[in-house]
Amino acid sequence: MGARVVRVDPSCPEPGAIAEAASVLRAGGLVAFPTETVYGLGACALDPAAVAKVFAAKGRPAGHPLILHVEGEEGARAIAAAWSARASQLARAFWPGPLTLVVPRGPRVPDAVTGGGDTVAIRAPAHAVALALLRAVGEPLAAPSANRYQTLSPTLAAHVVNSLGDAVDLVLDAGPCSAGIESTVLDLSVEPPRVLRPGALELGRLRAILPAVVYEGFLVAGADEGTHASPGLDARHYSPRARVLRAPDRAAALALATSEARALGGSARIGLVVRGEALGAVPAGVDARALLDEPEGYGRELFATLHALDDAGCAAVVIEDVPAGEAWWAVADRLRRAGA
Ligand code: AMP
Ligand code: MG
Repeated sequence: MGARVVRVDPSCPEPGAIAEAASVLRAGGLVAFPTETVYGLGACALDPAAVAKVFAAKGRPAGHPLILHVEGEEGARAIAAAWSARASQLARAFWPGPLTLVVPRGPRVPDAVTGGGDTVAIRAPAHAVALALLRAVGEPLAAPSANRYQTLSPTLAAHVVNSLGDAVDLVLDAGPCSAGIESTVLDLSVEPPRVLRPGALELGRLRAILPAVVYEGFLVAGADEGTHASPGLDARHYSPRARVLRAPDRAAALALATSEARALGGSARIGLVVRGEALGAVPAGVDARALLDEPEGYGRELFATLHALDDAGCAAVVIEDVPAGEAWWAVADRLRRAGA
């Protein structure tokens, strides 16, 4: 038996479906719902028992804080201890949208949500279904990605069902997520503000409003627990079941996939992910996919492609590296963690 899945219109969700989902949430249940980034595993954030179910369903260790979702600034003010002029300026510029703000935690927020810390992460999602659900519940929703701990994030309802099964009470299915990659997490509790996780909101757009913003890239995302700034952001994260191998360019990726397939002697498939034009002929046993050669389009399809290669039974996936530029920051981060 799996979760109950209800189809909803992505831009104009059916009121009956939203009402049903809201009542599951108010009763302390879990509802997976679409956002513009990935599908979230929603629970009433101010209900510690509901929040505990999120950790259990994901197999996520306690101490890894959750992002709280609100309809807008007013909802954020109600759960933050302080809401600065800077927070307000950023929210006005980018909400609803893929920017999560880490701010001082207000007294209504349970310990389990923040990992016991004194800050809370908040965002307003840019998706009609998520916003309708938030409006119907009238309370903030904790909504980490709707997948088991450390595995690939879900960009389709089927990914949620495959990962969580009946640990989730209801899944609202509104089709594919438009960004396909998680939110940018910005810590406003430090000076200067610091990016804790690169994401769907580009660094350049943040800098336009906040020129002093700090992003330490690979340093922030240091390999071991304890050295990085964002609790719960493990080096290994966003990983397919298949072993991930990286190659510096398209030719090297094809060569590596070919030799891996040969080594396995046709007993298993090898996935291959390149940028740009589709590959012509590939050797037997190689399952090749081409993603758009620009960061937004690539990001939108990345997780779905890795899910598909896992579902096709690939033993390993060879991924062509992406360009070093800042525009690719979120994709580069996810690829590095997928292979960690
Ligand atoms: P996810 O659960 O996939 O939505 O990712 C949530 C991530 O947001 C966590 O793993 C942290 O990296 C980050 N985060 C959430 N709350 C906080 C917080 N209070 N301080 C710092 N980072 C946070
Ligand atoms: Mg996640």
